[in-house]
Amino acid sequence: MQMSVTSINEPPEAGSVAAVILPRDAHTVSRSMIDPNSLKVLYRLRQHGYLAYLVGGSVRDLLLGRQPKDFDVGTDATPEQVRKLFRNCRLVGRRFRLAHIMFGRTSLIEVATFRRKPLAEEIPAADDGGLLFAENVFGTPQQDAFRRDFTINALFYDVADFSIVDHVGGLADLRAGVIRVIGDPDERFAEDPVRMLRALEFSARLGFALEQSIPEAIGRCAEQLRAAAPARIREEILELFRHKVAGSVIQKADRFGLLEYLLPNLKAGRPTFDLLRQLDMRTAAGKRIEEYFAMAVMNLEHFSQHILVDMSIGDVHVLANRLLAGHCRHFTIASGVKHKALELLIAFFRLQRGRGKRGEQRFLHHPATAEAVELYSLWCSAINCERELLESWQRSLAGDEPAAERNSNKKVRRRRKKKPQHAGQEAGSEDKAAVDTEDGHSAESVTGDV
Ligand code: ATP
Ligand code: MG
Repeated sequence: MQMSVTSINEPPEAGSVAAVILPRDAHTVSRSMIDPNSLKVLYRLRQHGYLAYLVGGSVRDLLLGRQPKDFDVGTDATPEQVRKLFRNCRLVGRRFRLAHIMFGRTSLIEVATFRRKPLAEEIPAADDGGLLFAENVFGTPQQDAFRRDFTINALFYDVADFSIVDHVGGLADLRAGVIRVIGDPDERFAEDPVRMLRALEFSARLGFALEQSIPEAIGRCAEQLRAAAPARIREEILELFRHKVAGSVIQKADRFGLLEYLLPNLKAGRPTFDLLRQLDMRTAAGKRIEEYFAMAVMNLEHFSQHILVDMSIGDVHVLANRLLAGHCRHFTIASGVKHKALELLIAFFRLQRGRGKRGEQRFLHHPATAEAVELYSLWCSAINCERELLESWQRSLAGDEPAAERNSNKKVRRRRKKKPQHAGQEAGSEDKAAVDTEDGHSAESVTGDV
C-alpha cells in the first residue's frame, strides 16, 4: 500500500491535500464487525445523499482487531436533517449538538455532523466563552479529522465504498503503535488540557508509545489543567478505571506532573499505584467497577497511615470523612457515593484491627463487609502483607470457619451493669459517632459496634 503521510502540523486548506484511502480489499474491517444498528444509520444517511462515515474510536479499534465500545457516525447532514430521517431520533447536547438515534431501549447510535475549528475572528464576543459556537461550526470531513485529538482517533470508514479514509496519517501511526497529537501539541493541549490525560490513557490502553514531543509538551502545559472542568476530568478518570489502566496512567500522570491538577486531593505513593494495579486486575477479571470503590482505593494508603488499632470507630469515621471530603467537594460527588466509600474505609479499619471485637457477627452480615474484604485483599496483595488475618475473615464470611477458630475469636466479656440512662444522655462516644454519619445516613452496622 502506498502511504503518503502528509504534514500534520497545520490543518491543510480544504481539499488541498489528498487523503490516504484504503480500499476495501486493503484492510480487515468487514461489515459483520460493525454494529447492525450503526450500519442501518449509515445506509439511511447514504440513501438520502449524505456522506456517512463510521468515525473515531470504533475505526481505530476495528483496525486493531479490538471490540469497539461504541460505533459513532459522522455525516455532512446537519442535526436537523438527521432528525428528519429518523423517527427514533432526538437532538441532545448544548455544547456539542448531536443526534441520538435509539433502537429499542438499550441501543443508542450517536450521529455528529462534521465540524471544523472556527477562526478566532468568527467566534462572537457574546458567546459563552466561545464554547457553544466554537463547538458547532460545521465543516468538511477533512476539517473534522483535524479537529480530533490524536491521529489514530481520526480515521473514517466510508459506508459508500467500505474504504478507510485517513486525512492525518493515522494509519501509519496505528501500524507503528504511536500516539501522535494532530497539530502542535502545545496548542492542542492549551485548547483542551484534558487531552494530556487522554494521551496517557490511549497509550496505556493500546500499549502505544507517546510520540516524543508529547511528554515535553505535557511538561510545559500541565498547569493548564487547573482550568479544565472537574466534571470532565472525573469522567475521564472513570474511563481509566473502566479500561483497567488506572494504575499505570495515574502513576504516569504523577511522573509527568499532571496528578496534582487531575486529583488535587490525592496523596499517593507507591502503595496507591500498586493498589490501583490490583484494582485494574480485579476489573479485568470481570468485576464491575464502582466509583465509590475507586475512591476508597485511592484514599486507602493515606487512610492506613493515620489509623491506629485502638482508635474508636467515631474517630476513624471523622478521619475517613475528612479524607474523602476534599475529593467529593472538588468533583461534586453525591453524598450517597461518598457514604459508600466511607463505609468501605471504616469496614477496612475493622478488618485490619483484628478479630473478636464487639459487634463482629453483625459486621460480618452487613452487605458492605464482603466488598471491604475484597478491598483488604487487594491491599494485602499490593503491599505484600501477611494474609493470615485476611484468610480468617474470608473463611468467616464464607461461613466455613472451623468451630475452634470461631470460639477463639470470641472474647470473654464481663457483663456490664446496666445503668439507667437519663433522657438526653449521650450513649458511649464510639456508638454515637458511628450511628450518625455526617451525611445523615445510618451506618450503624459497619461503622458502629453493637
Ligand atoms: P473509547 O470510546 O473507546 O474510549 P474513543 O476514541 O471513541 O475511545 P471518545 O472519548 O468516545 O473516545 O471520543 C470519540 C472521538 O471523539 C475520539 O476518537 C476523538 O476523535 C474525538 N475526541 C474525543 N475527545 C476529544 C478531545 N478532547 N479533543 C478532540 N477530539 C476528541
Ligand atoms: Mg467512544
